[in-house]
Amino acid sequence: MSEESLFTRIINRELPADILYEDDQCIVINDISPQAPVHMLVIPRLPIAKLADAKHSDRALMGHLMWVAGEVARMAGVSDAFRLVVNNGKGAGQTVFHLHLHVLANKGFQDTFSEDNL
Ligand code: 5GP
Repeated sequence: MSEESLFTRIINRELPADILYEDDQCIVINDISPQAPVHMLVIPRLPIAKLADAKHSDRALMGHLMWVAGEVARMAGVSDAFRLVVNNGKGAGQTVFHLHLHVLANKGFQDTFSEDNL
């Protein structure tokens, strides 16, 4: 089995994806199974498995990912209303163990945090 994560393979162009943005620190792709009309993934090139594994020295990268999320939201025309989600750990629904930020938009969010959904 390859030691590279799925997202590293996408970053390395070993697997296809819709690449919306990239720079020296991260890449942004469309989610293959969108949970909202706009569903993008902001993925650092550095293969940090999950948010809680980020080191003190990764702070600038963490900030950059947040900035890129806003930037691609602007590019997608959804900067007025989007949600940023990070699933940390299997128990929280993380399935790909290479840190990524979900940028979700164009979906009604009013009820998402109701008790039924927690
Ligand atoms: P997680 O559940 O780890 O927070 O999110 C992983 C996300 O990656 C899911 O939303 C899933 O649909 C997406 N995903 C899984 N495999 C692929 C793939 O091969 N290509 C793309 N673009 N997204 C993927």
